[in-house]
Amino acid sequence: MSDMTSEEYGGFLQKRRGEILERVEAAARRAGRDSSKISMIAVSKTVDISEVVLAHAAGYQAFGENRPQELKRKIDGLAAYPEMSDVRFDMIGNLQTNKINQVLDCDVTLVHSISSSHLAQAVSKRAVARGKHTHALLEVNVSGEASKSGFAPAELRKAIGGLLELPGLSIEGFMTMAPAGDMVAARRTFSGLRELRDELASSHGMPFKILSCGMSDDFEIAVEEGATLLRLGRVVFDPAYALH
Ligand SMILES: *Cc1c(COP(=O)(O)O)cnc(C)c1O
Repeated sequence: MSDMTSEEYGGFLQKRRGEILERVEAAARRAGRDSSKISMIAVSKTVDISEVVLAHAAGYQAFGENRPQELKRKIDGLAAYPEMSDVRFDMIGNLQTNKINQVLDCDVTLVHSISSSHLAQAVSKRAVARGKHTHALLEVNVSGEASKSGFAPAELRKAIGGLLELPGLSIEGFMTMAPAGDMVAARRTFSGLRELRDELASSHGMPFKILSCGMSDDFEIAVEEGATLLRLGRVVFDPAYALH
């Protein structure tokens, strides 16, 4: 929030939120979708607890973090604010097996980033051992970039039947990340995720309702292609980020 007072920053967050909601609404309309089926999480990884409190006052209720340690730090820090008791936190980043217990103990609402069968099995085992039930998304590498984690589509088709049987774990849908800076590739990635979901939903008789895709640079495209959960960081929190 650089040189702004917290009052000014709160004003920015509120105004920006209105602009984002208008964009989402317009994109949903273009695609003939009901915007009430689309929600967003504010990715708070680059801001501190005081900014999360201001974002909550501006209307955000769901937040996302990509590192277990920072997730725990935010949740612990927010416990001092009674008005924050209704916030939700999701884990959206790469998860290592040795950090699973830490994330489960944070009682996150949704883990977006189950990127392999090995990780799904590890989460299931630890959830059962701790008497917890974890809601999760399977991360899919739709674009096939070597740098991206997640199931390859073919691998997912083979694995999903077994993953649905795992105790302590409910698979609610899928998550993907689009290649950066290429809007054509982003659209192809998001539509690919939706088509794969439709295929797996019909072959497995499961709704897989949640499609977590769309970030600051590409969320309108994601809405047009079926996203139900947008993960927005810079566009929410960074006054220097221009909505384009
Ligand atoms: C940081 C992050 C986001 C938000 O990215 P922005 O481009 O800042 O909106 C979304 N998803 C994941 C997994 C992230 O790590």
